[in-house]
Amino acid sequence: MAKITLMNVSKQYKGGAIQALKDINLEIEDGKFFCLLGPAGAGKTTTIKLIAGVEPVDQGKIFMDDQEVTHLLPNQRDVAVAFETYALYPQRTVRENLAFPLRAPIRRKEWSEEQIQARVEEIAKLLGIEDLLDRLPRQLSGGQRQRVALGRALVRKPKAYLLDEPIAHLDAKLRHRMRGELRRIQLELGITTVYTTPDQLEALSLADQMAVINEGKIEQVGSPAEIYQRPANVFVARFVGDPPMNIFHAELEDATLCLFGGKKLGISEPLFSKLASAAVEKSLIIGIRPRDIRVLSPSSAEALWRGQVKYVQVLGETSILTVSTDSYEVRIKVNSQEAPKRGEAVGLGFDVRDCHFFDPRSERRID
Ligand code: ADP
Ligand code: MG
Repeated sequence: MAKITLMNVSKQYKGGAIQALKDINLEIEDGKFFCLLGPAGAGKTTTIKLIAGVEPVDQGKIFMDDQEVTHLLPNQRDVAVAFETYALYPQRTVRENLAFPLRAPIRRKEWSEEQIQARVEEIAKLLGIEDLLDRLPRQLSGGQRQRVALGRALVRKPKAYLLDEPIAHLDAKLRHRMRGELRRIQLELGITTVYTTPDQLEALSLADQMAVINEGKIEQVGSPAEIYQRPANVFVARFVGDPPMNIFHAELEDATLCLFGGKKLGISEPLFSKLASAAVEKSLIIGIRPRDIRVLSPSSAEALWRGQVKYVQVLGETSILTVSTDSYEVRIKVNSQEAPKRGEAVGLGFDVRDCHFFDPRSERRID
């Protein structure tokens, strides 16, 4: 088990034409499940490769506990990695692939042959691949290969697990089960885990701590609750939460917030002065989560906007409405029983205390 620290880490490809990571600082606490969340191309795999030592760092340092590992070889770092692309040995059976980390020369004395076989069977059972042990990788589906790759990482108890989108190629049901298994294994063993995913719900549901990464930069680090409740900027606000937060512009006028459509919302003096000091020419960005908007009758005095329901997407107990107003399309999450019909005219309302405010220039959260 180990704490992992990245200090001012940068990585370029193609002689500097691609800046995959730009001055990354991260502190991953000992024994925690840490998720790195970001869209495709954000730099997740690169981060895993640098921590594992399979790619050199261009600038910066990496530590495990207090030992600098920046220039250590991968097998000197005692980490176990599962890549999204599997990287299995094509000429070896599943059994041999799973046993491979236990047979490494530096661990020759740790594992007897019986212990190796027992451990391989145990991990295969856990991942539901016990019937595939004598197959070669090319005789497996993508999802099965991915479970073998994950098994090969979990077979040992290293200082850290580095799991790069380890369940991305499983079907939805199996993915759900594996999420639960992974979290259980991690809690049981207490091994520091770095887990990458482009799926915000996966990160929110698995992580003790998480970081949102975009275009090679860390946008925010925090607990899932902190990131969901207090997104640090517009990117995080839009990326975390489904459907995404509604984002629009508003103007400050006297002691009010002037919304699109011309409606004015009274705000308290302290809030006004805080917003006024951050606003650019009185302009602000406001975000409201879909479940924080209320559907009202179009004639309601509380309605801040009026619009027409353009789509209703039923997701079991909840439904997502898309309402078109004069200026914006607004997304709202409601209980399915209370959902209006497509084409219906509605009023929309919300509370100021549910608004997230952002600086229109830097797009950073105003606190
Ligand atoms: P993610 O895993 O978040 O999808 P990656 O870490 O794979 O992102 O990639 C980050 C950026 O670096 C992307 O722009 C990608 O195209 C680029 N990149 C990654 N590996 C290489 C490589 N070997 N050569 C050139 N560019 C690369
Ligand atoms: Mg990747």
